[in-house]
Order: sequence, then structure tokens, then C-alpha cells
Amino acid sequence: AAKDAGRSCHRFFEARMAEKIQLRRALEQDLRRAISRDELEVHYQPKVDARSGAFTGAEALVRWNHPERGQLSPAVFVPLAEELGLINAIGAWVLARACADAATWPPHMCVAVNLSPVQIMDRRLVRSIRKILKETGYPAERLELEITETALLGNDVQALATLKEIRALGMKISLDDFGTGYSSLSYLHRFPIDRIKIDRSFVARSPNDAGSASIIQAIARLGASLGIKVTAEGIETESQRRFSSDEGCSELQGYLISRPVPHAQLAALFAKARTEVA
Ligand code: C2E
Ligand code: MG
Ligand code: MG
Ligand code: MG
Repeated sequence: AAKDAGRSCHRFFEARMAEKIQLRRALEQDLRRAISRDELEVHYQPKVDARSGAFTGAEALVRWNHPERGQLSPAVFVPLAEELGLINAIGAWVLARACADAATWPPHMCVAVNLSPVQIMDRRLVRSIRKILKETGYPAERLELEITETALLGNDVQALATLKEIRALGMKISLDDFGTGYSSLSYLHRFPIDRIKIDRSFVARSPNDAGSASIIQAIARLGASLGIKVTAEGIETESQRRFSSDEGCSELQGYLISRPVPHAQLAALFAKARTEVA
């Protein structure tokens, strides 16, 4: 019986694997045409100042409106785009869209855009960003680029040169999903990092789980002593908001504040906040 169970389990995984490969093949063809068919869309998740609760800006998050499969998550198609060599084109498209949208926001708002490690290794990246800033008239100072620790791993020299150039142009650099990857504290002083984003897995288990709470506390203190701003992402509950804020995170992001929304909805949120302040 155990053997039978093992065999059926094996067949189950084989079927799942075949299904996955088939889905990838189908998506591969479609993804190549997604930009030209205007199927990509950028949603925005607002971020707030931990103390005042005022909006500080928003993170751009790409979505793919697939004609048959509906809206697909970047967790599904970004890795595929990386493999197919499409991520540079998609990344440039997202940057251009985000800068054009953010150019219409109130002047103190920043937009954060995620960069794939593949983009960091692309020697044309800086030129492409400069061109986008010029074409949209968006100020470099209000653009934040989110990278992950993976991007810094193994290609030190190239990544460092690129990040320094980006910084020299006035943009800010954030280290996303901090604490999950190959976290090395040496990154924080070797690379020009303006902000750390504490991974939402820690935030999700806080404040009740002592280990996660300690990690948030430690990262917040580390940021404070290194002069690096700290954002807590994935804030879903009031007690998580209070904990991260009390521990010294300066910026908060998560479903409690808002889910990622289409640009028109974000613009409405910003406009409403403005009249409430006035
Ligand atoms: P990320 O950069 O860490 O973005 C945060 C993700 O967490 C987003 O998922 C967001 O919707 C989700 N999130 C935010 N607040 C909460 C919360 O309170 N609870 C929960 N459960 N989730 C929350 P999304 O939009 O599916 O994006 C997933 C990842 O895909 C991003 O993680 C980022 O790594 C990548 N990604 C998204 N857009 C782009 C892009 O334009 N370029 C690249 N290279 N990667 C992107
Ligand atoms: Mg991010
Ligand atoms: Mg993140
Ligand atoms: Mg992530």
C-alpha cells in the first residue's frame, strides 16, 4: 500500500510538472507580445510616513492582463521574463509608465520601482533610465529603485559601479525583502543604500512571534545607527502598524493602508488626502 501511495504520489507530481511546463510554453509566446499588445499595467501601493500617517509616495507593481487567463501576478511572469531575456524591455516599460504617472502626483511624493538583478547587470540600464527621466520630465530625486540582495551577490564590481552612477544622478536605492536572501550586513556599507525594506514575512508574524519581533527591532536599530531609512512592508493589522512604528520604522506599507491599486484610484487617494490636510 505504501508503495502504491508512493507511485501515485510520483504520478501526481509528474502531472503537476507537465502542467507547469505546458503553462510556461503557452505563456512564453504570449509574453513576447505582451508589451506591444498593451497588456501590461502598473498598479501602485501607497506608502505612508509612520509618524504622521501622511502619504510619502507609492511602489509600482506590474500586472499582466492576459487576454484568456486574466490578471497574472509578477511572481509568475517576472521570473519567466528574466529567463526569456524580456525583463530589460519590461523593466524599461514599467519605469517609463511609473515616471509618467508619478509626474502628475503632488510634488513631495516619490515613486519606487523594482529592478530585477538581470537589469542591474545590463550595461545599458543607466542610459535607459536617463532617457526615461528626460522624456517624462520626472525628477531623479523622486525616483527610488528597489533591488534585492540577490542583485548584489556575485557581481560586486558591476553592481557597485551601476548603483554609484544611479546615486550620483540623484535617485535613491532601497534594499527590498531585507532579511530573507543572502543577507550580509557588509552590503549595507559597501553599497550605496538609502533604505531597507523589512520583508513582510517578519512583519506578518509580528508582534506576537518573539523571533520576528526581535528581527524587526534589530533591523530598525541597525538602520538608525547606519543612517539608513527603514520601511516595514506587509502591514496588515493595527498591532503590526503600531509595533513597527514604535520600533522606529519610518515608513509603512501594506494592505492595512491600501492594497496596490490602478493609477486612477491612487490619484484619487492622493487628492483626497490633500483636501483633508488643507
Ligand atoms: P515586492 O517588491 O516585495 O512587492 C511587495 C509585494 O507584496 C506585492 O506583491 C504586494 O502586492 C504585496 N503586498 C503588499 N502589502 C501586502 C500585505 O499587507 N499583505 C500581503 N500578503 N501582501 C502584500 P506583487 O504585486 O504580487 O509583487 C510581487 C513581487 O513581484 C514584488 O515583490 C517584486 O519583487 C516583483 N515585482 C513586481 N513588480 C515588478 C516590476 O515591475 N519589476 C520587477 N523586476 N519585479 C517586480
Ligand atoms: Mg518592492
Ligand atoms: Mg518586498
Ligand atoms: Mg519580493
